[in-house]
Amino acid sequence: MEYSPKKLSDILEKYGFNFKKNFGQNFIIDENIIDSIIHKAMISPNTLILEIGPGAGALTYKLSEVAKNVLCFEIDTTLKPILDKFLNDKKNVEVVYEDFLTVNVKEKISSYSYDNLYVVANLPYYITTPIIMKLIEEQIPVDKIVIMVQKEVGDRFKARPGTKDYSSLSVFLNYYFDVKKLMDISKNVFLPKPNVDSIIIEMTKKEVQKQVIDKNYFFKLIRDSFKQKRKTLKNNLKEYPLDIIEQVLIKYGYDLSVRAEQLSLEIFVDMANTIIEKEV
Ligand code: SAM
Repeated sequence: MEYSPKKLSDILEKYGFNFKKNFGQNFIIDENIIDSIIHKAMISPNTLILEIGPGAGALTYKLSEVAKNVLCFEIDTTLKPILDKFLNDKKNVEVVYEDFLTVNVKEKISSYSYDNLYVVANLPYYITTPIIMKLIEEQIPVDKIVIMVQKEVGDRFKARPGTKDYSSLSVFLNYYFDVKKLMDISKNVFLPKPNVDSIIIEMTKKEVQKQVIDKNYFFKLIRDSFKQKRKTLKNNLKEYPLDIIEQVLIKYGYDLSVRAEQLSLEIFVDMANTIIEKEV
């Protein structure tokens, strides 16, 4: 059966479905938006897609027509009868009814063969950042992420040094991905209509990543540098060798009174590597 997002409210009513605000449920009702996401994601046929939160399956249905497999994670089991019905003839779709934040993603994807691994999703907004951090921290080998997110959150993802949105997450993302905005999305394309504006963000894995000697140390240094955003590095990094950090900062025209929000990925890489080289 062809899935029509326009008929979504009728379908949900027929199945007695109630939207759950605490699961961030705002379903897409505009088929053009779904087509745009699919088109912009440029999915080749041998791709495994991870979709976090398929909802009633509007995006899932179309993803299944262009990808090799779609592996979905949905926390709300009351969506099962709806997804079973509408994805009935889509044999390349698997829905795992678990919380994405606790599921073992690596184990789930290990049974699939694919050339590319993409995340394509209209994310539950209340956990956008934890989802991205999970993908990064568990080193899920994703080649591309195309996600619909709250506009303010998307701005943080692609923030540049020296802007108010720049955070440790911006640095982490910039380390792994080229991040860009694909399009703005109106509130009117969702049911129920959210209070916030949305954007579609694309993150493409960098072909060549900066050489970091000790990744764990590098990530910890960044986290600690941003621990208290308004504080200087001197205050946030008291436990670190400040003399070495200062030597690195001077090369870039800064000193220990700088705040982390001013510093680029390159400077953090240099700081972490120099400390490791000199201390070990
Ligand atoms: N993809 C659908 C669409 O675009 O119409 C629904 C998107 S809706 C914004 C977010 C979806 O994520 C909901 O179906 C919600 O139940 C699901 N969800 C929320 N928290 C989740 C979690 N921790 N793990 C997996 N799915 C979750």
